[in-house]
Amino acid sequence: MNDAVRNVIIIGSGPAGYTAGLYTARALLEPLMFAGYMSGGQLMLTSDIENFPGYPEGIGGPEMMLQLREQSERFGLEVHDKNVERVDFSEHPFKVWVEGELFLSKTVIICTGAESIWLGAEGEQEQKGRGISTCATCDGAFFRDEEVLVIGGGDSAMEEAIFLTRFASKVTIIHRRDVFKASKVMYERASNNPKIEIKTFRNVKKWLSDANGLVGAVLQDPRDSSEEQISCTGAFIAIGHKPITDFLENQVKTDESGYIVPSNHTMTNIPGVFAAGDVVDTRYKQAITAAGMGCQAAMDAEKWIEEQH
Ligand code: NAP
Repeated sequence: MNDAVRNVIIIGSGPAGYTAGLYTARALLEPLMFAGYMSGGQLMLTSDIENFPGYPEGIGGPEMMLQLREQSERFGLEVHDKNVERVDFSEHPFKVWVEGELFLSKTVIICTGAESIWLGAEGEQEQKGRGISTCATCDGAFFRDEEVLVIGGGDSAMEEAIFLTRFASKVTIIHRRDVFKASKVMYERASNNPKIEIKTFRNVKKWLSDANGLVGAVLQDPRDSSEEQISCTGAFIAIGHKPITDFLENQVKTDESGYIVPSNHTMTNIPGVFAAGDVVDTRYKQAITAAGMGCQAAMDAEKWIEEQH
């Protein structure tokens, strides 16, 4: 056990975490970050980021995360590439267990983000981050004049499909039934788009690829198990996101999907525990919005420490 009580422990190392680290370090709070074994978050899976202001030529996701880390470390953020196993927010100081070791802190900023839900169809693993993506905003432009699939029947699938029509020659939405969770307006916008075809009652059974990458998929009708083959060089899975909050063991208030529900600006229902980025964001889910929230959480934590201590 580390007897020292830290001012701030940041859990998670996406844009929200590093920005919270940068701001709390510059506020001389000597923040400690547990970045996770795979530090950097979802952007580590993104090849090019072209919509983060300040990079006119775009930047690779891993490169940007490295720069964010270097910038916050320069001001004194202490980063451990370890996973937080468990927390106890029932009393002050808060307790955070990392690989069996206990750390104490006056405040905690949760920036663990969310992970896309993947289909898990045969052949998917090999094409992740290549032909198969979960982020049209990030990767859509790589499929200029190509045929792509979008899997899902919710608003995300409709939005991704509509966005992809800017680049792709054809977008086929594959949905497992004929009822759509998507809002009527989004569904109609997608179904009226001449570049979009919607195929219902289809599951992806298997992804097909050759030496150059993805070439298609085997689709299966859940009603009679009949199969058909479809060609595509890109596929976008839009079947939802899962916020990373299991390790909190319901100590922090979340909605029914697991997203943290803020109580006062970035503060959670537990005074002194803050949250920022995709772990609270059910709407925007962008690197820039996560970074902005990380800044807000850092400033909120700093103010809270000042008021309490
Ligand atoms: P969602 O509404 O939960 O839809 C997920 C879709 O994926 C459903 O159609 C579901 O099919 C399908 N699906 C789930 N698991 C599957 C599997 N294993 N295989 C095949 N299909 C599967 O999720 P979302 O579209 O990400 O939206 C989440 C929330 O964000 C919603 O509240 C949505 O309104 C909101 N959102 C809003 C906008 C907007 O307003 N512009 C944009 C994006 C998201 P079933 O229908 O059969 O369950």
